[in-house]
Amino acid sequence: MINNPFKRPIYLDNNATTGCSPEVFEAMKPYACERYGNPSSIHSFGGSVMPEIEKARWEVARLLGCTNADPNGHCTEIIFTSCGTESDSTAIRSALEINPARRKLIVSKVEHPAVLNLAHELARQGYQIVEVPVDAKGRLDMDYLTDAVDHDTALVSIMWANNETGNIYPVEKIAAIAHRFGALFHTDAVQAVGKIPMNMSESQIDMLSLSGHKLHAPKGVGALFVRRGVRFRPFLIGGHQERSRRGGTENVLGIVALGKAAEQAAQSISHENDYVKGLRDRLEQGIVSRIPKIRINGDTENRLPNTSLISFEFIEGESILMLLDQYGICASSGSACTTGSLEPSHVLRAMGVPYTAAHGAIRFSLSRYNTEEEVDFVLEVLPPVIEKLRSYSPYWQE
Ligand code: PLP
Repeated sequence: MINNPFKRPIYLDNNATTGCSPEVFEAMKPYACERYGNPSSIHSFGGSVMPEIEKARWEVARLLGCTNADPNGHCTEIIFTSCGTESDSTAIRSALEINPARRKLIVSKVEHPAVLNLAHELARQGYQIVEVPVDAKGRLDMDYLTDAVDHDTALVSIMWANNETGNIYPVEKIAAIAHRFGALFHTDAVQAVGKIPMNMSESQIDMLSLSGHKLHAPKGVGALFVRRGVRFRPFLIGGHQERSRRGGTENVLGIVALGKAAEQAAQSISHENDYVKGLRDRLEQGIVSRIPKIRINGDTENRLPNTSLISFEFIEGESILMLLDQYGICASSGSACTTGSLEPSHVLRAMGVPYTAAHGAIRFSLSRYNTEEEVDFVLEVLPPVIEKLRSYSPYWQE
C-alpha cells in the first residue's frame, strides 16, 4: 500500500458488504464451538439455543417496527433465511404461487439482479413481467407503474433503496397502488435496513427482504418480513424450522449475529446516519471542489446517507479502482466488470447516463467505521489519480 498512513484498507465499499461489528462477533462466537447444539433438539444443550433465536427475531422485528415485536411473545412476521437473494426469491415465488390466476409481476429496471434476474427467469416460464423505467436521476416513473398495475398483477416488487445510486423509492405509495388491485407488495430493503427508520406496524408493505452482511453481521444470513395475514408458501421445503416456513437447520451463529446487528442499528440509526452523511458529504464536496468534469449520479435530494455514485468523465472506472487499490482504498465501479465485460451497469443504462460518464462511475459507500481522516486521505490521493488517467485518455480535453 503506497503512502497509506493507516496501514490498513480504507474501506468505502459498504454497499457491497460490511465488516462484522466487534460486538456482533463477540455475540456469535459462543455458538460455534461451545453452544453448538441443534436448536430443535429435545436435550437442553441444543434446545437452550432456541430462546437465543427468538431473541434475535425480536431484535430484527424491533428494528423494522413490527406490530408484534414483543420480547415476551414470538414475532411471527420474521423468517430467517440465508441471504437477501433467498429472501427476494422466496417472497416473489410465494406471491406468484398463492395466486396462480394472476400472471403479472411488476419490478423496476434498477432492481438488484436478485430480483431482476429472477424476473427474467419467470418471463421465460411464461409470466408477464413489467419493468418500470426510471428518469435520468434514477427516479421511478410513477405514472408508468400506476398504469401497469391491474387485476392480473400478483406482485409489485420495488426496492426500498438502490445499491448503486442510493436512491430511495416511495415504497408506501407503491404499496397503496398495488393494493388497489388486490396485488401484494414486496420490497427489497437490503440496502435500506439499518439506514432508514422503519415502522412496519404502520406500513402497507406485505413482504420485505433484508441481508445481514449489509448491516455489520456476517455473510450467510438474511431475513424476510411477511406481514401477519399475508398468505405464504415456503421456498425451502424440508423440516419444521421457522414454523415450517423455511426448512433447514437454523444458522444459529448468523441469526444471533443478525439479532445483535439489528439491536445496534436500532440504537444508533439516527446519530449514525448524521455521522455517515457528514463524511459522505465531506467526500463529495471535496471531490466537486478539487476535480473538474465530474457528475454525481442519482437523486441527490433523496438517497441513502452513505452512498455517492460519482462519474469521472472520459476515464474508465476500473482504472481508477486499480490505482486507488494501490493506496489501500476500496470502492466499486458502476460497470458490470464481474461478467467480464466493461458494459456500464444496468442501473446507469436505465438512467441513460452517457457512456463517457457511465464508464467512469465510482461508488463510494461509507459506514460508521469510517473517519474524517480517511476521507481526507482519499481527497489527497484521488485528484492526482484522475489527472494521471485523464492525461492518457484520448477523449479528455481540459
Ligand atoms: N438486494 C440488494 C439491493 C443488494 O444490494 C444485494 C446485495 O448486494 C442483494 C439484494 C443480495 O443480497 P445477498 O448478497 O445477501 O444475497
